[in-house]
Amino acid sequence: MKILQVTSEAVPFVKTGGLADVCGALPLELERLGHEVRLVIPRYQRIGRSDLTPDAEPLGVPTGVGERWCLPLRTKLPQSDVLVTFLEHDALYDRPGLYGPSETEEYRDNCLRFTVLCRGALQLCHKDGWYPDVIHCHDWQGAQVPAFLRAFEADSPLSRTPSLLTIHNLAYQGRFSAHDMAVTGLGWDFFDWRTFEFHGDLNLLKGGITLATLINTVSPSYAREIQTKAYGEGLDATLRHRFDRLRGVLNGIDTSVWNPKTDALIPARYTSKDLSGKAVCKGELSTISHQLSAISSDRLVAGFVGRLVEQKGADLILDALPQLVELGVDVCVLGTGDHDLEARFRQAAALEPHLSVWIDFNEELAHLIQAGSDLLLMPSLYEPCGLNQLYALAYGTLPVVTDVGGLRDSIVDDGDGDGTGFKMRAPTVPALVESVGRAVALYRDQPQRFLDMIRRAMGRSFAWEVAATYYEEIYSEAIDRSGG
Ligand code: ADP
Repeated sequence: MKILQVTSEAVPFVKTGGLADVCGALPLELERLGHEVRLVIPRYQRIGRSDLTPDAEPLGVPTGVGERWCLPLRTKLPQSDVLVTFLEHDALYDRPGLYGPSETEEYRDNCLRFTVLCRGALQLCHKDGWYPDVIHCHDWQGAQVPAFLRAFEADSPLSRTPSLLTIHNLAYQGRFSAHDMAVTGLGWDFFDWRTFEFHGDLNLLKGGITLATLINTVSPSYAREIQTKAYGEGLDATLRHRFDRLRGVLNGIDTSVWNPKTDALIPARYTSKDLSGKAVCKGELSTISHQLSAISSDRLVAGFVGRLVEQKGADLILDALPQLVELGVDVCVLGTGDHDLEARFRQAAALEPHLSVWIDFNEELAHLIQAGSDLLLMPSLYEPCGLNQLYALAYGTLPVVTDVGGLRDSIVDDGDGDGTGFKMRAPTVPALVESVGRAVALYRDQPQRFLDMIRRAMGRSFAWEVAATYYEEIYSEAIDRSGG
């Protein structure tokens, strides 16, 4: 199959979250399965252009507010033949942020910026004479592709090309004022309750959900949850309407990067048979966090890595902190995000010696926290998939998680037999304290069972091979449905 991925992020080029991990890893696995995969991404400022090869000719991209000329710059995903084309348009993409000047602000022309990505991806197919069997687009940034296929490609070689829209996080919908419909170039017939219109606004993700051949989210549980009012972010009715087109595929992890046996970013490597390296990592983590009591006594270290936002339950950790410390737990937090939360974590760390906080985006430290902690805290309010709990399993760090989305699908509670972690009964402070308390009790009173759990966790496999075969099936179904 020929598969085109339209995405706003992909590792190793540019990443703000799990979307980038998926778009960097899935194409490689699909190629291994024998498919031809290409990616289209904007050329943001933070993507250096020195290793990219520019086309001789620019690419004209029609929009509702005139043609935008982009320069395609090419490279390949490392160690592969996956062609990556960056669309360069400095007025749109040559800025410090990806989506806005800060995590909480957006660029005002974001609709145009991602209209150009979506339309540009289709124009590129014509320029290259390379026509995919299916187009896989991601999140609101890629969500105009299904509409553009219908509106502008009815008489082109792309006329029967099916689309798959993956929702990595339903909370981010690409919502703009109705005036921006004029930017997309789509007619007003695409602006009604069946398509892009949402409470009088333009909602790009909604347009994608209603028009894509198939839709998926990044875990089966999240696919079910978003059809309910509680998790639907206002789009639950739209999603229920398309329930027969909605799938859930749990992400894999890149085991060449996240593997304690080979990880060059941690001070010692280890396996489930010989965990002595994990103790070295705990020692190193305790040293840099000045929490030496964690190695000299029987205190546990609980890590947190991720965005410091409400979704991730970061405030629950802050509120539970005195009780966690009392239980005998040292907490290490690495993250950036909401400025209020960042400030609260800094303040808490200044007062509480058993809390260490790094307000930073730091891959190396993320690896050390995964390897050197005993527990990983993920008290998310919702979690489409979550990667950190999968990394934690691989590193023998037992996750303490809420029972939602991808956390529900990937972690088995200690009480359910064959446990690999500890599930909270609700996203609340008492439930977090209760679950951490169970972990501490097991560690102290039944060390052999705790060790068995670590080994079981490390034996769980979430490699991309499995997820890629599910995507293969979904692509085939999309092609069948479009009569292609
Ligand atoms: P989300 O996509 O909702 O942010 P995920 O758990 O799916 O959450 O993926 C987050 C990814 O970003 C993981 O690979 C995680 O290790 C990484 N990450 C998040 N915050 C940081 C940070 N401060 N430093 C290093 N890596 C981080």
